[in-house]
Amino acid sequence: MDRSSIIFSCILFFALGLFSYNLWKIVRNIRLGKSNNRFDQPLKRTKILLKIAFGQTKLFARPVSGILHALVYWGFLVITIGTVEMMVDGVFSLDRSFGVLGRFYDIATASGDVMAVLVLVSCLMFMFRRLFLKIKRFSGKEMKKSSSLDAIVALVIIVLLMVSLLTMNIGYIGLHHESYFGSFPISNFLLPYFDNWNLHLLHDISWWAHIMLVLIFLNELPYSKHFHVVMSIPNVYFSNIENLGKMENMTSVTKEVKLMMDPNADPYATPPADAPPPEAFGAKDVTDLNWVQLMNAYSCTECGRCTSECPANQTGKLLSPRKIMMDTRQRLKEVGKNIDKHGKNYTDNKSLLNDYISTEEIWACTTCNACTQACPLNIDPLSIIVDLRRNLVMEESAAPQELNMMFNNIENNGAPWQFPAADRLKWKDE
Ligand code: SF4
Ligand code: SF4
Repeated sequence: MDRSSIIFSCILFFALGLFSYNLWKIVRNIRLGKSNNRFDQPLKRTKILLKIAFGQTKLFARPVSGILHALVYWGFLVITIGTVEMMVDGVFSLDRSFGVLGRFYDIATASGDVMAVLVLVSCLMFMFRRLFLKIKRFSGKEMKKSSSLDAIVALVIIVLLMVSLLTMNIGYIGLHHESYFGSFPISNFLLPYFDNWNLHLLHDISWWAHIMLVLIFLNELPYSKHFHVVMSIPNVYFSNIENLGKMENMTSVTKEVKLMMDPNADPYATPPADAPPPEAFGAKDVTDLNWVQLMNAYSCTECGRCTSECPANQTGKLLSPRKIMMDTRQRLKEVGKNIDKHGKNYTDNKSLLNDYISTEEIWACTTCNACTQACPLNIDPLSIIVDLRRNLVMEESAAPQELNMMFNNIENNGAPWQFPAADRLKWKDE
């Protein structure tokens, strides 16, 4: 090991360690959620993963931004092979160590070289759109200046990553003339423009700049909405694969109803002494949600596609499904920080409901599922809204007046209307 590989190994070890530590904290926070049985149907889930996460199919509903985003995503997948190679090279003082892969290496490097340009152009177009076009879905009361800054910082880093990748390739092929590993169509085309350059210096500066930017970007991810780069795959895999609109029953209520309908059940039976305490209905805080809902919150890209499709938002109501996800994430981060500072049993007397999300917002929802349908990552804001409502209705008895009337009617008349069941057929006498 020479001096530069020792320095590189230390930097790499520190950067990967820091990322792992932040990742562990996020996983710990997600695990604060309740269990959810989403480990079923692995084949169906894998198909959905390939189609929606890797195929990016839901993004094509808006073709221009969809194609640009897909190019960036696919580009990153291809370029990651080269990034891993650079890490191996850096630690062991090698040069193009994956070159032994022969034909596969030619294909990987050629794709990476072409994708670098496509990603570069896509990101420049995204930057232009962010800075000079007023896209309505990028605004909203939940969108702070930091959200936009976060996007610009990420785009600048990606642009620099692609430029340094290309200049590194140009330096590499220029130094090795005809005897290099891999295939670099774009860099070969650009090489004549670097005739009078010190290619050795260009290669070394580009190599270090590229790998440092990779490590900086990696460690910026857990603090930004771009963490969806990491979360999108598990998030789509564990997403709801039932038909939209099918509500999940509450197990506690189902159990009670079954007990009521069972003629052999003893309604006065005392529960066993070691029986767990009954769970609260619905969700008041993030720890009442399940882990998939919490993972959804960390996966949200703040793209606003859900809010732009939401009929409640379009008609001027307070509700924004994007805000529901951002608030859930914000609150979960706060709970995580409280645990770090004060231990697991600490309570700050705050909750997701009321302190972050108001009752006016959740009662504005029409439960139409347009948000879930529109989300490119299959995130489900409606499931959180429904759980918050369940808590209000079943724990706080705080439903709006119109709903309370309907509940009373169901209880008394067996129907949502104000007429007794005995009068149901009266219409036929008229
Ligand atoms: S389900 Fe609710 S939040 Fe989602 S789009 Fe419909 S009204 Fe909006
Ligand atoms: S929930 Fe989905 S559609 Fe809505 S802002 Fe987040 S990522 Fe975008």
